[in-house]
Amino acid sequence: MSALLKPLLDAPPPDSHWAASAVAGPETGPLDGSVRVDVAVVGAGITGLSTAIHLAEQGVCVAVLEAREPGFGGSGRNNGQIIPTLSRLDPANLTAAYGEAKGSALARMVGGSAALVFDLIERYQMRCDGVQKGWIQPAHRPGRMAAAEQRVAQWRALGAEVALLDAAQTERALGTRFWHGAMVAPTGGHVNPLSLAREMARAALGLGVAIHSDTPVVSIARAGTGWTLTTPRGGVTADRVVVATNAYTDDLWPGLRRSVVPVLNFQMVTEPLPAALRASVLPSDMACSDTRGDLHFFRWTADNRLVSGCTLVRSADAERRARERTRERIRRVFPQIGNPAIARSWSGHLAMTADFRPHFHELAPGVTGAVGYNGRGMALGTAVGRELARHATGTGAPELALPFTPVKPLPFHDLVTRFSRLYMLHLRRLDRRD
Ligand SMILES: Cc1cc2nc3c(=O)[nH]c(=O)nc-3n(C[C@H](O)[C@H](O)[C@H](O)COP(=O)(O)OP(=O)(O)OC[C@H]3O[C@@H](n4cnc5c(N)ncnc54)[C@H](O)[C@@H]3O)c2cc1C
Repeated sequence: MSALLKPLLDAPPPDSHWAASAVAGPETGPLDGSVRVDVAVVGAGITGLSTAIHLAEQGVCVAVLEAREPGFGGSGRNNGQIIPTLSRLDPANLTAAYGEAKGSALARMVGGSAALVFDLIERYQMRCDGVQKGWIQPAHRPGRMAAAEQRVAQWRALGAEVALLDAAQTERALGTRFWHGAMVAPTGGHVNPLSLAREMARAALGLGVAIHSDTPVVSIARAGTGWTLTTPRGGVTADRVVVATNAYTDDLWPGLRRSVVPVLNFQMVTEPLPAALRASVLPSDMACSDTRGDLHFFRWTADNRLVSGCTLVRSADAERRARERTRERIRRVFPQIGNPAIARSWSGHLAMTADFRPHFHELAPGVTGAVGYNGRGMALGTAVGRELARHATGTGAPELALPFTPVKPLPFHDLVTRFSRLYMLHLRRLDRRD
C-alpha cells in the first residue's frame, strides 16, 4: 500500500458484531490493468455505493475503487441507526447558513433520507435486518423539551413526518424513566450496517457497476477533458470522479483530509438478553440517540442484543474503559437489565467538522466529494450519493440539494485531531445545561 495512505486505512477491519453476523460480501477483487468508465467513485461506503447505484440505474458506466472492502470504513462499523436529521443542526441552522432556498432543499433531503434507505432496502431486497419502526431522540433534561418542540415544528414545516412525545409516552416507547420526552421520526430505524453496505455493493454489481476492492486510489490527475485515477496495479480513466472517503480520507485530494477531524468512537453489544428484557427495554424497537453531546445511544439487534457505546476523553486503556463506561450507562438507563455482559466491542472513526455541517465539494470540474457527516452518515450518505449521481449526470449545482463549499483545511489539524477528545469535556459541560 502506498505511503500516501494514512494508518486508518492500514488497520485490520474491526472484529465487530456486524462482522460476525453480516451477510457475506459479494465477490470483488483488485483492479488489474486499465479501464475506462463514465464515472469513477472512490470509496465503497454508503455514500460511494449509493452514488454508484443511482448512476447505474440511469445506465451510466461506473467503477467503484475501494482501498479495502465494501463497508470497511464507518459504514460497516457504526451503530446502524437510520436517522433523518443532522447531528446538532436543525433546518433553521441550514437556512441561516445557506439561505432559504438551498438550506430548505438540504433539510428536505435530510428529512427524506431515512425513507430513501428503506426504499432501497425494499427495492433491492437487501438482507440487512432492516427495522423501520422509527428513530427517537429523547430529551435528557426537562429544559431540552422546548428545543425538541421547536425542532419538531421546523421539520413539520418542511413536510417531514415527526412527532413529539411527552414523558409518559417516552417511557412507554423506551421502557425507562431516564428521559423527559422525545422527538420521533417514524421513517427512521436500524440495520446491520455492514450487511447494508455489502448488500448495496451486491445491488450495484447487479446493475453492472464494477467494484474493485483492495484498490487504493493513489492519485487523481487531469487527462484531457476527464480524469485518470492511479491504483497500485492499474488505472481508471473517467469523465467524472466522486470522492466518498469521509473519515477514512487520506491525502489523495489536497486539503480534504485536513478539513475533517477523525474522532474515535466505541461500539459494543451485550450478550443476547432474555425475552422478558427484550419486551421491557426499548419495547418500541426504535433506534434511540438522545439530546446529549456526549450521546447516549441504544438499539436492539435481530438476535436480542443491545448495541451501545461511547466516546472517551483519554486514550489510555481505552477498550476496557469504554466497556465499563457503557455498562455503567446501560445500568443507569435500563436498571432492569442489571449488570450487562458485553460480548464484543470495536471502534471506528467519525468525521467531525468545526461547524458541525457536512461538507460537499466540487473539488475541480467533474470531481465532487462529500465528507464530515458528524456521526450521521447512514441515511445522509445515501441521500448525498443520490445527489452526487444527479450532479455527475449533468444536474447543475444550483438544482442540487447540496451546497458546494470550498475545502477548508483546519489550521493545526494534527494538533486539533490529537486533542479532539478533550472537546468531549466541553460537550459534557453543555449537557448539564438547558
Ligand atoms: C462507531 C461509529 C458509529 C456510528 N453510528 C452511526 C449511526 O448509528 N448512524 C449514522 O447515520 N451514522 C453513524 N456513524 C457515521 C457513519 O458510519 C458514517 O457517516 C458513514 O458510514 C459514512 O459513509 P461514507 O460512505 O461516506 O464513508 P465510509 O463508510 O467511511 O467509507 C469510506 C471508504 O473510502 C475508502 N477509502 C478511503 N480512501 C481511499 C482511497 N484513497 N482509495 C480507495 N478507497 C479509499 C475507505 O476504505 C472506506 O471504505 C457512525 C460512525 C462510527 C465510526
